[in-house]
Order: sequence, then structure tokens, then C-alpha cells
Amino acid sequence: MLIGSTWLIMAQGEKEDHMAKSDFEWKKILTDEQYHILREKGTEQAFTGKYDKHYEKGEYVCAGCGEILYSSDTKYNSGCGWPAFSDGIDGKINETPDYSFGMVRTEITCANCGGHLGHVFNDGPQSTGIRHCVNSASLDFKAKKEK
Ligand SMILES: [Zn+2]
Repeated sequence: MLIGSTWLIMAQGEKEDHMAKSDFEWKKILTDEQYHILREKGTEQAFTGKYDKHYEKGEYVCAGCGEILYSSDTKYNSGCGWPAFSDGIDGKINETPDYSFGMVRTEITCANCGGHLGHVFNDGPQSTGIRHCVNSASLDFKAKKEK
């Protein structure tokens, strides 16, 4: 599979201007890993992310800005080594063509802060046929409160 490889240095892309924060400010609030992935479009190593095998009920929010991006209801075990979702929350995730590394992929970013999440592929479960392949480091999990 195309996403089976890992890489450390992403091509120097154009800076996204719709984010309100400067790189300096992001570095203050994000861990080094989060900064690398969210702001430099990095990819964590497969099977290492904290949410790869994580199936509690709740919401996954953007690690950069706290916007709700995914519900645990759409999370499934794709076996690909990263958290996989069959769909995102409507309007919260932007999709952009990504031609880096000689591949044609669709990058997904947080619509609110522009943070890099991962990529979306057309090999998801039957319900939607799509797979959001997301870095754990791009997400924070908020457990559903018991009533
Ligand atoms: Zn965000």
C-alpha cells in the first residue's frame, strides 16, 4: 500500500495563511511531534500512534485548535497502522490534492486551523467507501461523558 512507507522530512510546501498563529506560537503550544505533523505535514510511524488501537466512545478533536473532527462512531480497525475513520464531521475537514512523493493523494487538514491530519483514501468500509487515515498526534480524544 502506498501509505506503508514512513518519511521524516516532507517537501517544503507553501505556507498556509489561514492559520492565525505564527510558527513560533504553534511551537509553544504543541509538542515537537505534534508540530512536525500538524504544521510540517509529517507522518508518524505506523502502529506507534496512541489512537491506532483505541476504541472508546467519544470525540476526536484537533490537537492544534480543539475543533471536533471525528466521532468514535466512525472509527474502525483498518489495519493500516494509523487511526482510521469512515467519515469526518461535516465541514470540519478540508481535502486538498497532494502530489508529493510522486503520488497522487488527498491530504486532509483541519478546516479551522489548517493543521495536517493525514490523507483520505477510497478503500474504506462499505458504509462510505472512504478511509480517513489520520495521525494520532493530530488528534486529542475526549471521552463521552456518562449520563
Ligand atoms: Zn485545528
